[in-house]
Amino acid sequence: MQRLILHGGAGNIPESRFPEVERGLREALAAGQARLSHALDAVEAAIASMESSGIYDAGLGSVLNLYGRAEMDALLMTDDGRVGGVIGLPRTENPIRVARAVMESSPHVLLSGRGAERFARAMGFPPVKVRAPRRFQVYEELKARLVGKGTEAEGRRAYTPAWFEELRRLVEAHPELLHGTVGAVALDEKGRLAAGTSTGGITLKLEGRVSDSCLPGCGTHADRRLGVSCTGTGEVIVRHQLAQQVARRAEERGLALDRAAGSAVRSLPRGTAGLIALDRKGRYAWAHNTRNLAVGLLAPRGEPVVRVARAPTLRGATDRSSW
Ligand code: ASP
Repeated sequence: MQRLILHGGAGNIPESRFPEVERGLREALAAGQARLSHALDAVEAAIASMESSGIYDAGLGSVLNLYGRAEMDALLMTDDGRVGGVIGLPRTENPIRVARAVMESSPHVLLSGRGAERFARAMGFPPVKVRAPRRFQVYEELKARLVGKGTEAEGRRAYTPAWFEELRRLVEAHPELLHGTVGAVALDEKGRLAAGTSTGGITLKLEGRVSDSCLPGCGTHADRRLGVSCTGTGEVIVRHQLAQQVARRAEERGLALDRAAGSAVRSLPRGTAGLIALDRKGRYAWAHNTRNLAVGLLAPRGEPVVRVARAPTLRGATDRSSW
């Protein structure tokens, strides 16, 4: 049995962007399907495809931090306990491939910032400018509204707790600004499960801010039973260890995957998160408490299904060929 499920972010996705988001998911499904003899290869290939597309908030499409720079996070996990990831990696097209290199070619689990970049270059990943014009425009507009054009006050204001609150309010008024993190979970014929997530984070985040995506058990999780990848407001997801919550609810409460996913997301504040999950039996689930969640999956006969789920509802699917 082979299975692959992807997401391209949760939030309020404007309808005008649906075709582009769905096209990126379709391409990523094809890239992952071509490598599905090995779950880890499939997850890496699918995520790399979305990173390179520039459509999502990951890789070349990453949003920019307070200083106008992309700092990207990515993590891979496998059901046999292997983990590798990067935090705050700049100038790299495919952070998920560097995450895999950390897992397989370094003695560490996570590398951050300058060290992550040095490692990426040493492993042969070339420096690439990450500044999508669309992201830069949003960055400039948001920054002008929040801190004014002059940057004298910028340092002081941005480093207060009120900063994120202000940012959150602005993003609420312009929900199209969020999100677009990407993730994938795969199961191969040999019963191996792998999960991964990659993100540029949140526009105007402080330098050095760490997302949920690269934290094991928070935005990404895999164990012998299931794999999960989350998206949404990282601070909320980390506080709730959302991905791990799904596993715990399935295991301890004996919930079916879709119920475990739904109840975990329901326990978070509305409008903050979405996730995809896949278990060892090949059952898919997804849930979100945001208006949209971009999801793609391979139906049991291998045909691709993509959709921007629209309703603010909590939904799950168990091993079915259509939505
Ligand atoms: N979870 C990501 C973060 O907090 C953002 C997202 O999923 O869109 O960085």
